Amino acid sequence: MNTNIDGFIDGYGNMKEHDAFGYNVTYITKRDAVLCPDCASEDENMDELAGAFSHFEGTPLYCDDCDCEIESIYGDPDEIDEVV
Ligand SMILES: [Zn+2]
Repeated sequence: MNTNIDGFIDGYGNMKEHDAFGYNVTYITKRDAVLCPDCASEDENMDELAGAFSHFEGTPLYCDDCDCEIESIYGDPDEIDEVV
């Protein structure tokens, strides 16, 4: 398994929802599918994980498995401009 991913497994064998800095973690599989931490923790998906990242900025991503919305940590900069 990718060592990059090993650091994101918590003490219960699940994929962490937050990294060491408290940012939400999003997972990507070998087939370039985006997964939320819940789906990444599914046994059949865990074997497919290729990396973990924090979705800092931009439009929301959608989990490839459960279709939930993964909002960026700082939001969409274009959207903020419209409010100001
Ligand atoms: Zn999901």
